[in-house]
Amino acid sequence: MDAITLPPTLSDLSRYYLELEEKYGAHNYHPLPVVLTRGEGIYVWDVDGRRYIDCLSGYSAVNQGHCHPLIVRALVEQAGKLTLTSRAFHSDLLGEYARYITGVFGYDKVLPMNTGVEAVETAIKLSRRWGYQAKGIPGNKAKIVVCAGNFHGRTSTVISFSTDPDSNSRFGPYMPGFVIIPYNDPIALEQALQDPHVAGFLVEPIQGEAGVVVPDEGYLSKAWQLCRDANVLFIADEIQTGLGRTGRMLACDHEAVRPDILILGKALSGGVLPVSAVLADDAIMLTIRPGEHGSTYGGNPLACKVSIMALTVLQEEGMIGNAQQLGELFRTELNKLSSPYIRLVRGKGLLNAVVIDHGNPGAAWELCLALKENGLLAKPTHGDKIRLAPPLVITREEVMECVGIIKESLRTLDRLK
Ligand code: PLP
Repeated sequence: MDAITLPPTLSDLSRYYLELEEKYGAHNYHPLPVVLTRGEGIYVWDVDGRRYIDCLSGYSAVNQGHCHPLIVRALVEQAGKLTLTSRAFHSDLLGEYARYITGVFGYDKVLPMNTGVEAVETAIKLSRRWGYQAKGIPGNKAKIVVCAGNFHGRTSTVISFSTDPDSNSRFGPYMPGFVIIPYNDPIALEQALQDPHVAGFLVEPIQGEAGVVVPDEGYLSKAWQLCRDANVLFIADEIQTGLGRTGRMLACDHEAVRPDILILGKALSGGVLPVSAVLADDAIMLTIRPGEHGSTYGGNPLACKVSIMALTVLQEEGMIGNAQQLGELFRTELNKLSSPYIRLVRGKGLLNAVVIDHGNPGAAWELCLALKENGLLAKPTHGDKIRLAPPLVITREEVMECVGIIKESLRTLDRLK
């Protein structure tokens, strides 16, 4: 155990759990030293009973708040009835779920999966298949255009087109068939789309993992139009930006863009189990036939029931409008801090980040430790950026409390050289 990273205030109980993970778990994450045991709404509690405001929301999986009572009730009720049939048989929930989710998002069909990256993989396969079958791209020549700085998950295919060396170095050989262009650059896209072998353009409407990089207004609609003109599928990865997070149901809604393929995950279950989905119209979706794609757990009855409820509460409890309004308040108040250590505040709705400006490269991590001591949980991404993305059920008073905690915690950076 790396004693230097453990704050002296850590209790013996917390230390016990940390050491257990360190000893028996793979070292593929670098978590903040806090051990959580309970969650409710925007709050989580550690094993010592200390309460925190969760400003990460499970990387935007817990948009509806921790342990939303109606989602938990749906989970528990269905868990006692039927959890898994596999797709070898039908269930009385898959059809209901498919009708519900396609109705909410306005597509002909849904293909259910589990984790986000599986849904991304599905979208890649679907667009390649469409490219061969509908667009007439010669066999094995299909390309998908992606953006530098992307994050679409961790499989060997998906890291093949990552530009982050932490994600892909020494994991090769890489999957061919991807063309990387700069993000937020319609001219680069226009050029890339001149290649007749391009089947799809895969894009995050806001790059979340990269540190909440918001493209220029008009970028998404321009990109959509360019795709349309080139007969290329516009594939939106809304796994992090979707489901109310940016103040609209989808981040693409801000520019009235309807993706040809829509990828959802994370908050599709309100954080209670892995549920992801790919939505498209028949001309695209029906290019995949029985036996050509699937997953044992994809579309399981438990997931279907939970997902219907997660989408229902999101819409019926005013969470999306709340994200819009309180996101604006959050950014305004953060800007008012005018701290020398905050270079930039950016975001949309409740998907926000501050970019830290400090001579010490560990400043963002130190600030997160101070935030934790003061009752707020957040995590740095790519060194100097801290995402601030609380559950969408946060209130105005709680946003102000977050701002107060951030203000107080920034003082620690005075002492850091
Ligand atoms: N796509 C985006 C935009 C994401 O933010 C993430 C996860 O953070 C993923 C895909 C991968 O999702 P998962 O971790 O559920 O595989």
